[in-house]
Amino acid sequence: MNEISVDRYLGKAVNLSLVLNLVKSSGPLSRAEIATRSGLSAATVSNLSAELIESGFVHETGVVETSRGRPPVMLSLNSKAKYVVGVKVMPGSLVAVVTDLDAQVVSYQESTTPDEVSGDNAETLPADVIGAVARLVESVVARSGVNQADLLGVGLGLAGIVDSTTGTCRYSPFFGWRNVDLASPLASQLGLDVYLENDVNSLTIAEQWFGDGRGHDSFVVVTVGSGVGAGFVLNGQFYGGNGRGVGELGHITVMPGGPVCGCGKRGCLEVMASDTALIAAATDAVARGQLTTLSESAEMTLQTLVTAATDGDEVARGLLADSGRWLGVGLGMIVNLLNPELLIVAGEGVEAGSWRLDPMRAALEENRFDSLGAGTRLVVESAGDVTWARGAACVVLSEFFKSPLHRGRTAAVPAAIGAAPNGIPRTVRHNVKGGEST
Ligand SMILES: [Zn+2]
Repeated sequence: MNEISVDRYLGKAVNLSLVLNLVKSSGPLSRAEIATRSGLSAATVSNLSAELIESGFVHETGVVETSRGRPPVMLSLNSKAKYVVGVKVMPGSLVAVVTDLDAQVVSYQESTTPDEVSGDNAETLPADVIGAVARLVESVVARSGVNQADLLGVGLGLAGIVDSTTGTCRYSPFFGWRNVDLASPLASQLGLDVYLENDVNSLTIAEQWFGDGRGHDSFVVVTVGSGVGAGFVLNGQFYGGNGRGVGELGHITVMPGGPVCGCGKRGCLEVMASDTALIAAATDAVARGQLTTLSESAEMTLQTLVTAATDGDEVARGLLADSGRWLGVGLGMIVNLLNPELLIVAGEGVEAGSWRLDPMRAALEENRFDSLGAGTRLVVESAGDVTWARGAACVVLSEFFKSPLHRGRTAAVPAAIGAAPNGIPRTVRHNVKGGEST
């Protein structure tokens, strides 16, 4: 293909994406409204709409009565035109969902990851996890009744440092992996595009496209669970660092010389504020013989602590408050650095409720600098396993809806989205070798 035809091809792909996105974000819209909003000519919009209707991504949804002339036919996104799969990969368990183009979950399934192999160098083998993910994807897709041909791809969310441009896990503290290629072997097994992303980033992308982050130019998602992480949307764009890791809020040192973190450093925010740290502190309080009803609990969980706090246990209240204050210190850092419009605190850890969240809010107030953060809205939302898996699915959706000019991720072969909509390649750099195409 010569350069001019490539440009023409790309130009059309960009315009198709523009119309599809307008219909998705603002539909139902008439062709005339699409022309006005896009700046494209009526004839171009008519041609592009016809193509999107023929490929099934857009459908006509009735007419709107107007006072004069022929009532316009409205166009809407056909959210059931294609589907995606999202998988949250955790030590010991996998959660998968199939969603439609509106990120609505149509089926859901859980399974386990293989146990650690025994021996001196115990770690879970990547090949075993890839096999388990492939089986779960096939199963959740079969359960959904969606045809393989109607799948745009699979998103994988994984904690740790992820190179999303090549689909490689650079470092997984939970699995003990370094430089493991996950996307390519899984794509080969499944015959689908596979996108690997850090789990917090995938949740952030889901917020940007389908959640509370919609319409916000700058927001930060902070997750609290077994770890502490952060994801960023700045100036309207998801911020992926250099595509090879970002947002390790949990591993910022807040107490030099403090307790040893899972990463090997001392005094990280995560070792002061995560659920894991909180439960370890509670277990330690019992071991040191502190007067607390927690000593009667068979198993120490976040819920055990919340129940004890609600029943008046001062030790449980103190531990939850300490953990919340450290989180507030972390939020203060983010506000002072980025002053976002919106701060979304999500994850299993918010289930602790006001015992943890009120001290967190107070510490944020104490730690923010002058007027920075004064206009920042704070939203707290729980994120269970399905939300995390849906986040992974949204990584695929966001690539699909992104203009071909801005698609930076490289899916492992084969390229299903590259052919959509209607045979338009995702980018002129389509054939540039993996990951270096931006
Ligand atoms: Zn650390």
